[in-house]
Amino acid sequence: MAYVITRLCTDCLDLGCVDVCPVECIYRLVDEPSDLLPNMLYIHPTECINCGACEPECPFEAIYEDVELPAARFDDARVNGLCEERPSAFEVARVPLDEHGRMIHKPNPDEAAVAANKRRWGLEG
Ligand code: SF4
Ligand code: SF4
Repeated sequence: MAYVITRLCTDCLDLGCVDVCPVECIYRLVDEPSDLLPNMLYIHPTECINCGACEPECPFEAIYEDVELPAARFDDARVNGLCEERPSAFEVARVPLDEHGRMIHKPNPDEAAVAANKRRWGLEG
């Protein structure tokens, strides 16, 4: 079992999930995004220890335990697995730091933005 980052993460990349992961198993693309490799973060399915720490950190509610994935997002478990199948296309995601060494995160989305993003990906917003 592993947690899965769904397509709801697409183009967000605020990395709020990354700094709580105790085993650095959240990856980002180094290749150009494509239909096959969307611009989102990916959880490595065999490195993830299923601790659940990342799930409540995601402002877009994009992270699910694999057994809890909604039907509209089942395919995202396969998509996350691409970081294991194609390691050269990925690197461990890290939160960028400002000139004072503080982590830079995007501001959290408001409720309307979270709901609109859910609807975009086939979930009830
Ligand atoms: S469930 Fe735990 S180990 Fe897995 S990606 Fe989230 S924080 Fe990392
Ligand atoms: S916090 Fe959520 S939306 Fe932001 S990068 Fe992590 S998984 Fe993606």
